[in-house]
Amino acid sequence: MNGQEWSGQGINNSDCEACREDLSAVLLGIASEAETERVRAHLQTCADCQREAAELRQVLGGVLQAAPELAPPAELRARVLNSAKASTTVHRSDARQRPNLALWLPTSLGLAAAVAAFVLWPQPAPTRADVVVSAGDSVVFASSKSSGAPLTIRSAGGQLRRVSMETPQPAWFTEAVYAQGRAYLLDAANNQLIVLNVAQGNIERRYPTPGGAAGLAVEGGRVFVKTAASGELLVFGGPNDSATTRRVLAKATPMPQAECMDAVLHVGNRLLATSHATGQVFVLSVDGGQVLDTYAVGGAPVGLAEWSGGVLVLDVQGRLLELAEDGQIKRTLKLKGNPDKFSVMDGQAYLTDRGGTVSVVDLATFRVARQRTFGTPMDIAALPGGHLALADATRGLLMLRPDLSDV
Ligand SMILES: [Zn+2]
Repeated sequence: MNGQEWSGQGINNSDCEACREDLSAVLLGIASEAETERVRAHLQTCADCQREAAELRQVLGGVLQAAPELAPPAELRARVLNSAKASTTVHRSDARQRPNLALWLPTSLGLAAAVAAFVLWPQPAPTRADVVVSAGDSVVFASSKSSGAPLTIRSAGGQLRRVSMETPQPAWFTEAVYAQGRAYLLDAANNQLIVLNVAQGNIERRYPTPGGAAGLAVEGGRVFVKTAASGELLVFGGPNDSATTRRVLAKATPMPQAECMDAVLHVGNRLLATSHATGQVFVLSVDGGQVLDTYAVGGAPVGLAEWSGGVLVLDVQGRLLELAEDGQIKRTLKLKGNPDKFSVMDGQAYLTDRGGTVSVVDLATFRVARQRTFGTPMDIAALPGGHLALADATRGLLMLRPDLSDV
């Protein structure tokens, strides 16, 4: 591909031209959020530019995949940028301020080493995080509405590793859990469960999960998924690894993606699953095969956690409940807003509300001990070292202390 082809063939309007000017920067991860969004929007409607993007992605090669965040010396970066500017001027007189890297990348072979370093450098932290899970020494988080590299692995040292994943629709992540070296992530927009090998940074497997998958648990080699819209419990795996069972728990209730919320949790030798559409918590046998009991807790239960021999239930309508082993409600805490995810650590529950608030509930007194306002808190995970990782849809991944101050 040379400059002439790039600016000539297949361009049929000014949208295409604008798209192609920004395309290389977007693929390299150095475009602004607005530019990235414009390019993505255009690619969804334009087959010509999709082809161009696919070609360019090949030119840039596998180095784009899961590149770690590495900072090259400032002097090197300046050299590359200057070379790019000079090169762009030669090829195109109407080039915008920012270099169109695609114009010089294949032809400036003398710069190959510098290019490789440059490509490794610009991996900005994703600007949104929607689900987060503690994964051994690492943290895995996922960005909804992203169709390119929605998964990120953050190492203990804070380095970020992006994982590419092509999806027909921009992803909408509802839940993530970690088990035995794998992060399991539910993408309700594409009706799939993704299994990410955290050490290797690659996607090992995908399971089809139609019906608004929202609740997730992994136990004894089986994967349990609660679908919010279709009201089913899906069970994957088992002794022969290929079995899939579907069990209808509640009637189907069509709902928008953003409202796909539910939870699944193993407690002792039972499996609990919420049905927020019907205000129920189902109690099943450990393999999900039999419904043993149903707790009518009311409201819209969306979260579950084990606590002190009983179970905590989070109601998105603004209640935290403590259930006794027989399902009776022992304690109730009313909260303002609509908390929809929570995590328990050291006798405290951390609740996230997309409206902006993270609340810390002291579980001994069952009172709110602390609150802090963030951007759009989506999910929170307790980490082994005593810190918390907050997924915020407008501020990205934030690392917090137990008192919610920044790490
Ligand atoms: Zn186009």
